[in-house]
Amino acid sequence: MSKPDPFCTAEMHAQRNNGLNDASTGSYTIDGDSGLLREAQQRPSPNQDARPDGLDPRLVVVHGISLPPGEFGGPQIEQLFLNKLDWDAHSYFSEIRGLQVSAHVLIRRDGVVVQFVPFNRRAWHAGESAFRGAPGCNDYSIGIELEGEDHIEYTDQQYEVLVGIVIALMQACPGLDARRIAGHCDIAPGRKMDPGPVFDWLRLYDGIAGQHSGTA
Ligand SMILES: [Zn+2]
Repeated sequence: MSKPDPFCTAEMHAQRNNGLNDASTGSYTIDGDSGLLREAQQRPSPNQDARPDGLDPRLVVVHGISLPPGEFGGPQIEQLFLNKLDWDAHSYFSEIRGLQVSAHVLIRRDGVVVQFVPFNRRAWHAGESAFRGAPGCNDYSIGIELEGEDHIEYTDQQYEVLVGIVIALMQACPGLDARRIAGHCDIAPGRKMDPGPVFDWLRLYDGIAGQHSGTA
């Protein structure tokens, strides 16, 4: 409770409008100044900082997460990203004790969206990573977590919401396009598996293409 509000720091003001334009797709609205998605519940994470100078968002990283693994609907993902997880509450949590991570947004199984980090700030989701030879993906990417598990199908609502958010992000960020979307498994091969083999990339790409051409 005594932590400073990350939205009110001087550093934040200096970063405003860094690489983001206003976007409104009908379904989703991104405010370019604040980097916030209007339709999301806002839960500011302390696990964020400024992007390095000149590095605007130019990659979307798709993740899958569940806490404990394979269990859905609980508060533990939010607690992890807010540094409020009780490490002793489950045997798995003790394995990740002290981890300080975040993502820009989480899409829950029912399609509810929670935002932890403004899109123009750096979230801590990728770890050691590289995309097309460029290391340190956190610096220039937007991390989207799907509540899920690598071998359990994601929900229709999650695909629908993911497509909508990615389209809004492509409108907001000049450096993003449909070829600049990767899974965590792609940018950290051998280390990460998410969003897992069940994630339907063609469904995502078809959704983006369909809504872009107005034939969704
Ligand atoms: Zn991940």
